[in-house]
Amino acid sequence: MGRRKSQKVHPIGCACRSCAPRPCRDRRIELAIKGATRALFLIAGLLMIPFIIAHALASAKGDNR
Ligand SMILES: [Zn+2]
Repeated sequence: MGRRKSQKVHPIGCACRSCAPRPCRDRRIELAIKGATRALFLIAGLLMIPFIIAHALASAKGDNR
């Protein structure tokens, strides 16, 4: 009678093999998130460049008077 209890009850979001036979999906999501984060940082850096140049120009003008 107790031999069929090998299948345990798993909670929602369980990360064991029987619950998540395809961990590739999680990896894909992780990679996507990483890529999005990188893209955001890249865009932020690109947006910061003009500000940095303007700041440098302003400081240079202030030095020259
Ligand atoms: Zn599980």
